[in-house]
Amino acid sequence: MIIISDAREDKRAGQFFQTVGQPMTTPCIICVAITGSLPTKADNPAVPITVAEQIESTHEAYEAGASIAHCHVRDDEGKPSSDPDRFARLKEGIQTHCPGMIVQLSTGGRSGAGKTRGGMLSLRPPMASLSVGSNNFPTRVYENPPDLVDWLASEMITYGVKPEIEAFDLSHIYQAKLMADRGQIKGTPYVQFVMGVKNAMPADKRVFDFYVETVKHLFGENTPWCAAGVGRHQLELNEWSAAAGGHLRTGLEDNIRIDRDTLAPSNAALVELAVLAAQRHKRPIATPAQARAILGLRKG
Ligand SMILES: [Zn+2]
Repeated sequence: MIIISDAREDKRAGQFFQTVGQPMTTPCIICVAITGSLPTKADNPAVPITVAEQIESTHEAYEAGASIAHCHVRDDEGKPSSDPDRFARLKEGIQTHCPGMIVQLSTGGRSGAGKTRGGMLSLRPPMASLSVGSNNFPTRVYENPPDLVDWLASEMITYGVKPEIEAFDLSHIYQAKLMADRGQIKGTPYVQFVMGVKNAMPADKRVFDFYVETVKHLFGENTPWCAAGVGRHQLELNEWSAAAGGHLRTGLEDNIRIDRDTLAPSNAALVELAVLAAQRHKRPIATPAQARAILGLRKG
């Protein structure tokens, strides 16, 4: 895929950004999942919980090379929340402090039940996560019943939000295809494989390769896709994905350590590891403008 670079507009233009005149390879989008629903300060003091902490942590990650921020919010006690007001403050703060960065709000199931999961979509973020099927999580069922999935997808169309399809299982990739064929997802679905969640799909390279093959088969050879590994599998999935031409997800939501014995000091530290993985495979890091072009999003 050839991406016309407007990296010159990017004020951060660091050494790892592709600049005009260099050979064109597919830039690598790095998504940082800053908070999630589960990790606490007791697990790792660097997990940002308040909106102010989240904005600061996202800004550091943006400076390190992330162009998508995957966002959850927490209540005053640090518990998962779907409060649209908090999402609004976080979205505004990221837009102010991280120019062009793509804000992706989570509609995941740990922060609420039923339609409360989509209550923030009217904020019109450029992207939101969308789980299209159910599976087990470590201690519970991750319930995504068809009527709720259909409703979340229709809200995303109403508000011009591009879904990122969270594929915890092979069947979820096929479900994305079905929904696209029915017009419930506009354009080509952007699928993220999630591997390494306990009681769901393990981080198995043969399965990963088949996921990639399936996305190409269903959506086209050059369709962008990404992958996320949970816990110790985060770096492994960064490496596999960078090598196979996919995009990367990192961040404290999925993994709180930089190695077996060391807590990650920040989201930015994990982004730096993802940048190194991309560079090992000769992938330039996508600027926010390049990420928007790759994903077919409106300009930020
Ligand atoms: Zn999430």
